[in-house]
Amino acid sequence: MPGARRSVSSARGLATATGHEHQLAVARLLASYRTVPPTATVRLAKKTSNLFRVRRPTSVPGLDVTGLAGVLSIDPAARTADVAGMCTYETLVAATLPHGLSPLVVPQLKTITVGGAVTGLGIESASFRNGLVHESVLEMDILTGAGEIVTATPDNEHADLFFGFPNSFGTLGYATRVRIQLETVEPFVALRHVRFTDLDRLAAAVDDIVATGAHDGVRVDYLDGVVFTAAESYLTLGVRTSDPGSTSDYTRQQIYYRSVRERPTDRLTIHDYLWRWDTDWFWCSRAFGAQRPVVRRLWPRRLRRSSIYWKLVALDRRYGIADRFERLHGRPPLERVVQDVEIPLTGTADFLAWFLDTVPIEPLWLCPLRSRPTSGQGAPRQWPLYPLGADRTYVNIGFWSVVPSRPGSAAGETNRLIENRVTESDGHKSLYSDAFYPREDFDRLYGGTRYAELKETYDPEGRLLDLYAKAVGRR
Ligand SMILES: Cc1cc2nc3c(=O)[nH]c(=O)nc-3n(C[C@H](O)[C@H](O)[C@H](O)COP(=O)(O)OP(=O)(O)OC[C@H]3O[C@@H](n4cnc5c(N)ncnc54)[C@H](O)[C@@H]3O)c2cc1C
Repeated sequence: MPGARRSVSSARGLATATGHEHQLAVARLLASYRTVPPTATVRLAKKTSNLFRVRRPTSVPGLDVTGLAGVLSIDPAARTADVAGMCTYETLVAATLPHGLSPLVVPQLKTITVGGAVTGLGIESASFRNGLVHESVLEMDILTGAGEIVTATPDNEHADLFFGFPNSFGTLGYATRVRIQLETVEPFVALRHVRFTDLDRLAAAVDDIVATGAHDGVRVDYLDGVVFTAAESYLTLGVRTSDPGSTSDYTRQQIYYRSVRERPTDRLTIHDYLWRWDTDWFWCSRAFGAQRPVVRRLWPRRLRRSSIYWKLVALDRRYGIADRFERLHGRPPLERVVQDVEIPLTGTADFLAWFLDTVPIEPLWLCPLRSRPTSGQGAPRQWPLYPLGADRTYVNIGFWSVVPSRPGSAAGETNRLIENRVTESDGHKSLYSDAFYPREDFDRLYGGTRYAELKETYDPEGRLLDLYAKAVGRR
């Protein structure tokens, strides 16, 4: 590691690792890889996950990732960080903020890991200027399916793996170390929640902000939004600031997503801004009663976080609580519709109008994104497993809920409807949740031929699952 890099191992309270500890952890990972029988599928044994699809249970032990969750070093001058693959953004941000730095894109949920966000696509309100998480990766060490650790950079002999890794969901290999770029932040973020009564106008405002980096003459550093109905939607515009002043705290009784419609302006510390959606898992905590004033007062503050709601979801799945409840009331089971889709900005208003008419879910989260331009004269970078147009603005639309299923309907009927509409809109769907695509559609959308070549090179024995088996086959 270059001498200028500053080890953060001495910083109190941070999960950190020295280079030597990291090497030991990688050796443990490799040793555990070798103990998996050749006929069994290799998996990670991670404590947390933000993958929403239900996976088939397995009795084969997962790879030992102990010691691979720390920050290895931060170079404040170069504005880069080296982190272990299973490092959560919560840990990473705690290490970068004291330097006045943050990753270029910080996915909103605290337990999302750097490796998981690179391989599973990470997005946030800085994505309209910084692209997706993988676009700020400089290099990665990857344990391939062939059982080797390789370093992949955009221009070395493993450049094909570097570019094929995003959206491979751990089916080509597991990142053990990732070097990412950081950017300067200020102690506070000043917010404006701008209301729209018309979705076309909202889309036009996004277009203008992406083009000019400003709105009404004020710079915009962060941009996301919430749609409650076709006639009530908001864009939240954030600007970094060091001006002193009071700040809101949505980890207590107030709830962030409600504030979007209740107050036109707001201020948060940069820390609270980055985690504004985690406390109530966007708005999904309402399913657990956590937004009722009495329950909220009793619910310990430190347990108001997405990882706790996750555990409640896991319990529900294990015991089929919601399905039993529906059965008890003579209703068919509910269909889970938990998705993030990327729609070209030009078709966003139409897609939203269709969605609100067709699928009984609200609110919807909006997060504009645009691939980062290549520095210099080089051709735009291509990410074959999740190809997005280089000169095109997209809007990520997130919806996470359930809908009633029609008696006798095919599995995933509403999900299929949405998949078709996304394809018609020339959009893309993230693969962290349920997917129902037929094989040929899937291959066409997610880099089929290129993926097959990468699989042949980096996982020739098929030790890791195939992307289709994982995403659609729920293995
Ligand atoms: C309600 C909800 C909201 C979400 N909102 C956002 C959002 O706002 N922004 C955002 O960016 N994402 C969001 N996500 C998606 C999330 O980023 C992805 O699911 C991501 O892949 C999760 O990463 P994880 O670290 O938790 O990995 P896991 O859930 O543990 O694993 C996800 C996949 O990545 C693979 N994987 C994990 N670690 C590695 C590694 N080191 N190397 C290679 N492969 C690995 C696993 O094998 C698995 O296939 C959301 C998900 C949900 C359910």
